[in-house]
Amino acid sequence: MTKHIFITGGVVSSLGKGLTSASIGLILERMGLKISMQKLDPYINVDPGTMSPFQHGEVYVTDDGAETDLDLGHYERYTHARLTKNSNYTTGKIYQTVIAKERRGDYLGRTVQVIPHITNAIKTAIKDGVQPGSDVALTEIGGTIGDIESLPFVEAIRQFCLERPPEDTVFVHLTLLPYLRASGEMKTKPTQQSVGKLREIGIQPQILVCRTEQPMTEEMRAKISLFCNVRPEAVIEERDVDHTIYEVPISLVEKGIHRLLVDHLRLQPLTPAPDLDDWRKMVQIVIHPEREVEIAIVGKYMQLDDAYKSVYESMQHAGIANRAKVRMRKIDAEKVTDANVDQMLAGCSGLLVPGGFGERGIEGKIASVRWARERRVPFYGLCLGMQCAVIEFARHVAGLPRAHSREMDEHTPHPVIDLMEEQKELREMGGTMRLGAYPCRLVPGTRAAAAYRSELVHERHRHRYEFNNAYREQFRALGLVASGINEDSDLVEIVEIGDHPFFVGVQFHPEFKSKPGAPHPLFRAFVAAALEHARGRESAATPPQAAVAPPLGRE
Ligand code: GLN
Repeated sequence: MTKHIFITGGVVSSLGKGLTSASIGLILERMGLKISMQKLDPYINVDPGTMSPFQHGEVYVTDDGAETDLDLGHYERYTHARLTKNSNYTTGKIYQTVIAKERRGDYLGRTVQVIPHITNAIKTAIKDGVQPGSDVALTEIGGTIGDIESLPFVEAIRQFCLERPPEDTVFVHLTLLPYLRASGEMKTKPTQQSVGKLREIGIQPQILVCRTEQPMTEEMRAKISLFCNVRPEAVIEERDVDHTIYEVPISLVEKGIHRLLVDHLRLQPLTPAPDLDDWRKMVQIVIHPEREVEIAIVGKYMQLDDAYKSVYESMQHAGIANRAKVRMRKIDAEKVTDANVDQMLAGCSGLLVPGGFGERGIEGKIASVRWARERRVPFYGLCLGMQCAVIEFARHVAGLPRAHSREMDEHTPHPVIDLMEEQKELREMGGTMRLGAYPCRLVPGTRAAAAYRSELVHERHRHRYEFNNAYREQFRALGLVASGINEDSDLVEIVEIGDHPFFVGVQFHPEFKSKPGAPHPLFRAFVAAALEHARGRESAATPPQAAVAPPLGRE
């Protein structure tokens, strides 16, 4: 029988509920338990696919092509839980199923209501999110307790738990203990009120995780326990971490969260304490790097850290693999021009151009790619970043000055990035994105094949446009080779320039498959090349010669 953990948040948003949930998942896995993870989001969009990254941050894509909340990225980075379309439900998605049933007449003329129809659909979604064979299923409820939007979800989890024995379910509530500088003290009142709100709905949390800046005193713990009706040992401090978010599970284990969960849910873990040895070692590398390198990221949504969350995390993983700290110079592509690119990117030992949609900043990205290609600085392009590399190559190497992507210029005489025929048909029907994991065959002898140390890989996609095969032969003859191909469709998945220290563009999103303990091979090879470049610059005034990155695989 699968046990269930429900994680809610109170007081304010952005408390790090996703990270806390992912950390609890990791802790349970490290005790030998099999877990599932799921997020329920109270907004009305059916999925975050259509939301602006400025609004919502990155759209995280699963293997099966679901466009999901970025917290699912944390789940995959911390745990081995398999995430699917059933791992993220929004209010919109729940209502969509209920309304479709109503239109079909499935409710046999009855009045359709929030209770029981919407709450039943939520309970079904929770069950559907459980992977077969899971010992524990974790469900995070988005939003903040007290919001109107989250009420149906909170009501549904109350019912869900009522229908099961008490030892099969547990509520974990994450709150904030704000620190008032003026009086030099932390306050428990918001926590009391947020737990009060939960209890009003009929939910008594058994574990409270309190985000704090300062250590929580025994006196505060006693007070929170008394007013919130939670046992004192189950009031857990989650203090701000000093160096990296990967410290969170370590600190939660120090506070004994695993014992509380095992006792309450009567779990039978393989080990009494989680084995976090390798995780601790990894965190030590982050805290004490041996080297440092600065890499430019030229993109569109630079003000908001969440917009390229997985990219930044993957860079950190690649740093760990190279025992280095990667400093990221985040540059707004709109500010880059041919005239200032030298100055904007000066001192950077690598350039990464991430994915994106639309025209804004495109010329700045292309100018940056040109800089990296001509100055022989390691370049790594992701999705739109790869497309920019192809356009740049077409314009400045192949002599096609008006080359562009059909996305940005419908009438370009040289659509080197274009919609494929079947996509054009699909577009008329409203759906065009290539979403989710596709196989990619690597061409032996290329940098991509060396990095992956494999012949066939699976990578996740989220885009409409593709490399136009009409230009493949011409570009290959000039030095831009297709080093990864989807064999079923003959689509180009990876391009690279052989005669360059590192110049690789990928049509997919490798950032969705990197973990701190298993960095993505291409990110790892890119950062290795950037370190090599930095060393070359330090040791001589002349730029380094083409250095072949050592073949590096996943750990
Ligand atoms: N806008 C491009 C396309 O649709 C790239 C998308 C992306 O970078 N995710 O093909």
